[in-house]
Amino acid sequence: MRRYEADVAVAGGGPVGLMVACELALSGMKVAVFERRVARVEQSRALTLHPRSLEILALRGLVERFRERGHPIPVAHYAALDTRLDLSALDSSFRFTLFIPQALTEALLEARALELGVDLHRGHLVTGVGEGDGAVEVEGTCGGDTFAVKARALVGADGARSAVRKLAGIPFPGTEATASLMLGDVVLTEPPPSAPLSALNTGGNLLLVPLGDGVHHRLVVVDPERLDVPLSEPVTLEELSRATRKIVGTDFGMTRPFWLSRFGNETRQAATYREGWVFLAGDAAHVHLPAGGQGLNVGLQDAMNLGWKLAGVLRGLAPASLLDTYQEERHPVGARLLQDTLSQTALLLAFDPAGLALRATLSRLLTTPEANRMLAAQISGCDVVYPDPVLPAPPGMEVAPGLTGRRLPRCGLRLEDGAEVSPFTLFREGRWVLLRRPGTHAPALPEPWARWTSVVTATVDGGGEGLQGWSSILLRPDGRVGYVARDLRSELVDPRDAP
Ligand SMILES: Cc1cc2nc3c(=O)[nH]c(=O)nc-3n(C[C@H](O)[C@H](O)[C@H](O)COP(=O)(O)OP(=O)(O)OC[C@H]3O[C@@H](n4cnc5c(N)ncnc54)[C@H](O)[C@@H]3O)c2cc1C
Repeated sequence: MRRYEADVAVAGGGPVGLMVACELALSGMKVAVFERRVARVEQSRALTLHPRSLEILALRGLVERFRERGHPIPVAHYAALDTRLDLSALDSSFRFTLFIPQALTEALLEARALELGVDLHRGHLVTGVGEGDGAVEVEGTCGGDTFAVKARALVGADGARSAVRKLAGIPFPGTEATASLMLGDVVLTEPPPSAPLSALNTGGNLLLVPLGDGVHHRLVVVDPERLDVPLSEPVTLEELSRATRKIVGTDFGMTRPFWLSRFGNETRQAATYREGWVFLAGDAAHVHLPAGGQGLNVGLQDAMNLGWKLAGVLRGLAPASLLDTYQEERHPVGARLLQDTLSQTALLLAFDPAGLALRATLSRLLTTPEANRMLAAQISGCDVVYPDPVLPAPPGMEVAPGLTGRRLPRCGLRLEDGAEVSPFTLFREGRWVLLRRPGTHAPALPEPWARWTSVVTATVDGGGEGLQGWSSILLRPDGRVGYVARDLRSELVDPRDAP
């Protein structure tokens, strides 16, 4: 039997497991990832990274690696409605979705994890989890051998069928799949001139996305007459072609499939994201129809939320209660994701005249900038706010209603030497950041919080009025506003003015 020890064991080396491993390793944790597959998968389920995901990658100085390999698209879709969501209207430094296949995202995250010293054990299938004596014990098989891991915590990022979730006894309530959809990555010899393309009519539903070279394309097709085909039944090119022709009258000369697959709309969420020292993130915590390209994105954001908190507690920098806020903050986000994708499911399967009329009405509503912005912010992860503080406010600081828990708005910083920097550059080490306005007194943070915080003296340029009324702003390691302070000196009475 092979034996391993780590501060944190991660089951699953998909995008979410790798992201959480990066976050923990950045904070000095010894992290071991156990991935059942011997090699990375070449097919890509997800194709895009949304604005909030790009922001969190920027916080860690990684976004350029992704931008170099992807290309920005300023719109997204909601249930393939004709009116697209305008991402350029968002208050983000990344007002686009980045087209980048999941395989590339995983490769870049894996490279980063290895850079940070994460131990990645491929070919290791997790089959057992136990807790006792302040440690989590993980067991599994690797090749013809077995392995055992002793760690202080375990993150189950092992996908929709999560063994960790089952072994930890966490219920996964929700609904079974009621519809079967086809995915085909194929070569089109006669691609439509105006791709990406979506069409929905009584013949079915088609979404067609070019994969970047003008030849390879992804088609997602729903045939209303074949909604109950078992997900295990292989898709054939002939079936995909027939269904496509029923919708748009042509199959665009499809040939040479390089990935044909079926997926469904099973919708479930883990009852809790934490059981003792076992945590769930990503698809292990929530599954749903991949509508609006959100699963991987929300999973990466789960990973960041969990990573800094778990590292902070294990390093003795924060009380264990900080870990409860992972559930408090991320479970509602997962619940809303399910609600959103269920709503899109209804619209994507609306083939009858009433359904088509509802789609037309909603599409018209989305021409209203406010409605459009609302859904764009939701899909992109930019509208998530955590209003309750994760820890009691430090002395001299307070919660700012309307600001606490928000992403730092798009703004610039001017340092004391006049240099202009992006706020993203301050979070590379995954620490809290105390932004102090020049000429003011910053509150002294108590230990060990102070040790976990970088103090930066800077003027905030832009970002709206909300950011301007404070002398100091304490920002969480995920770039969200934590607490604010007024300048204590300005409240002192000048003795010459005293009566
Ligand atoms: C057709 C389709 C299109 C999609 N498009 C998008 C999109 O555009 N945008 C988007 O954001 N999301 C999309 N998604 C969803 C996205 O692919 C997932 O949400 C994402 O892969 C979740 O990442 P994860 O790391 O949580 O899980 P996974 O990617 O499933 O990774 C889990 C890993 O754990 C490993 N594993 C499993 N069990 C064990 C075990 N017992 N021991 C060790 N290792 C184990 C697996 O081998 C795997 O590598 C799409 C999904 C589908 C099906």
